[in-house]
Amino acid sequence: SAESRVVNFGPGPSALPLPVLEEAAKGLINFQGTGIGIAEISHRSKEFSAYLDGVESQIREQLGVPPTHSILFLQGGGTGQFSAVVLNMLARHRLLHPELEDSERVMDYVLTGSWSKAAAQEAGRLAGGARVNIAVDARTLSSGGKSFDRIPPHEAYAFSKDPALIYYCENETVSGVQFSNDESAPESFPFHLLPQDTLLPLVGDYSSSFMSRPIPRLADHAIIYAGAQKNLGPAGLTIAIVRQDCIVDVDAAAKLGAVPVPTTLAYKTFADQKSMPNTPPVFALYVTGLVLKRNSELGGVAYYEALNRRKQEKVYKVLREGEAKGLLKGHVRQGSGSWMNIVFVVLGDGAEALFLAGAEERGLKGLKGHRSVGGIRISLYNAVTEEETDRVVEYIREFINQPPA
Ligand code: PLP
Repeated sequence: SAESRVVNFGPGPSALPLPVLEEAAKGLINFQGTGIGIAEISHRSKEFSAYLDGVESQIREQLGVPPTHSILFLQGGGTGQFSAVVLNMLARHRLLHPELEDSERVMDYVLTGSWSKAAAQEAGRLAGGARVNIAVDARTLSSGGKSFDRIPPHEAYAFSKDPALIYYCENETVSGVQFSNDESAPESFPFHLLPQDTLLPLVGDYSSSFMSRPIPRLADHAIIYAGAQKNLGPAGLTIAIVRQDCIVDVDAAAKLGAVPVPTTLAYKTFADQKSMPNTPPVFALYVTGLVLKRNSELGGVAYYEALNRRKQEKVYKVLREGEAKGLLKGHVRQGSGSWMNIVFVVLGDGAEALFLAGAEERGLKGLKGHRSVGGIRISLYNAVTEEETDRVVEYIREFINQPPA
């Protein structure tokens, strides 16, 4: 029942709005009066096809996606995109510059956390003769040289000339590092350092911040992608916003020597067939559509930007209070902290276990940090309400005012 639900601060899959879940439960039995449930109805039915069109136009409208970009519904998660962006963008580079030697093709990666690191590793696996250039590795700037704890300052980046792609992860879910959406902030993405080219090969992983606030310079991106499972719906759906010049004939590129691209990873397959070359994740698309409809009723990304700004401000404020008392320690330098995932440690022997146990008792769940970083991680995705955020803030304040002996 709804009453039995706890507050879920989990990193993903994560909380979904209760009214959406209630609606989705009805759709599982009977989708839009068809008498057939959403998990049972043909994806080729006119009802589902119309629904899918609606999901696409909601995303286009809410994020302001220009007509130069297509919206594709894919599978394979963010991890699938680690591979897809490399294969499609190397194919594009091959078609644009067939005369280059493989060793002259470069892919630039910006490393700010474990997800961009994993993406760069996958690029290395699939590069063929092309090279991966680490444009900056934020760890080298940390005090021990090992920790992803900041967005690098603009002078630290070294981009290549005419790379096949430039990759960054907008929000690093594990360490809680996020680019600022304020272009005047030193922690913003250094768009001004890139060639002012309308066909910039810029790729952004927005898996854990999609739809939480507007996307800066969306139109300058070649590809923006996100798994649905944090801010939008169930896992299984991956959304990609792809500029049309990056939807290339991968077979023509293969004839020129590029690595062949599996049909299910080629953007063109999906663009040509309205995202349905094969069976799409119907249920995930359905719930995503319900979430988007609700978002639009609430005021779209502008509403979420304001809400999410307030939520993170409250949590960082109490974190700073805990730091001043020497009881908490944030993982990330000020200015680089994520709005979506806030990571910190509770100082003192056994204090963290006590913190987590107290949280559990209050029905505040999913707060344990990622195994690679440890500590506490509070994920504040769109479905976490301000009132739920207040509850965890209140708990932390209580904890730091009466620390365990
Ligand atoms: N990128 C980011 C920023 C993520 O947070 C995640 C997963 O949490 C991934 C990529 C991988 O996504 P998936 O699990 O959908 O493959």
